[in-house]
Amino acid sequence: MRILAIETTCDETAAAVFTDEPRVLSSIIASQSDLHARFGGVVPEIASRAHLSQVLPVVDEALREAELTLEDLTAVAVAYTPGLIGAILVGLSAAKTLAMVLGLPLIGVNHLEGHIYACQLHHDEDVFPCIGLVVSGGHTNLFYCQGPTDFQLIGSTIDDAAGEAFDKVASILGLGYPGGPVIEKVARAGNPKAYRFPRTFLREDRLDFSFSGLKTAVRYLVQGQNAQDAHRIPGEQEAADVAASFQQAVIDVLIGKSRQALSKHGVKTLCVGGGVAANGALRSALEQMAAEEKITLVVPPLRWCTDNAAMGAVAAERLRRGESDPLDLDAGGGLVRMA
Ligand code: ATP
Ligand code: MG
Ligand code: FE
Repeated sequence: MRILAIETTCDETAAAVFTDEPRVLSSIIASQSDLHARFGGVVPEIASRAHLSQVLPVVDEALREAELTLEDLTAVAVAYTPGLIGAILVGLSAAKTLAMVLGLPLIGVNHLEGHIYACQLHHDEDVFPCIGLVVSGGHTNLFYCQGPTDFQLIGSTIDDAAGEAFDKVASILGLGYPGGPVIEKVARAGNPKAYRFPRTFLREDRLDFSFSGLKTAVRYLVQGQNAQDAHRIPGEQEAADVAASFQQAVIDVLIGKSRQALSKHGVKTLCVGGGVAANGALRSALEQMAAEEKITLVVPPLRWCTDNAAMGAVAAERLRRGESDPLDLDAGGGLVRMA
């Protein structure tokens, strides 16, 4: 089987081709980051328009890299939820059109299941059952995953996502967008103990997250509580110390909640996905925790942490079971397809 997957849920236009084993034959990602940088975040309408001009060239490139043509395909997969509705519609319409004209089954992929499935792509043994931690620009979720498409949401952020907090703190520090990579870089020269920022819910027996108080604490520290100071940009060392202390607070919470989830569900594997999983300090802290708890940790390589279409390979699992979706599949829909 040869499956083409398309991903346009946010600001990456991506396409990949894989077999049903699954083995990835090609993965092409066109990031729109530059288009959104001067706005300090993703502008949905700009994202949709950029997807429109990129989606077919990216599909072409994925086929070329896999040394295949449209006629070689067995199925078309597409991330249909969750994400920016206008952005998803572009990829979904392209996928539906290809499925219809080629007479192939269409398979809708849940973007968050994809982020966790990226771990399976990277790991030889079956990662399920596992606890799935998705930490990205739009989500901070914990799932109890009994199979690749059998997810139970057991915790989530009640306000900002972890990646969103990185982006907002970078903006407060005048470091630009996207915030995650630049905070990580600047934090290397800083002291993670310089400031004591809140670790919301860390000591509570619940699996939810909250990052908006942390972001506000950073803002008040840097800018004070007066509106006239709102444009103060800290000096280099202060920015480094704030970035390092902020990053440490996020890491402590993510590690603490993952530990709680693993013990609550008696699971021995932790799979981590989403853009924030690209963070080197988080990856080291996760490895240390995994060694202490004697659990298996699976974190995908960097290119499969942020948005990509290779993680759409979760579609192969459904195809093998003979499942597909109708051509009137809606964009959006529920957060997670519950078993
Ligand atoms: P979602 O997957 O929830 O729909 P998204 O598609 O925007 O959201 P991803 O592409 O998975 O999310 O991740 C982007 C986020 O990851 C951004 O918020 C970015 O700042 C963050 N990020 C990227 N690299 C790093 C890093 N090295 N450290 C911390 N955060 C990072
Ligand atoms: Mg993105
Ligand atoms: Fe994502």
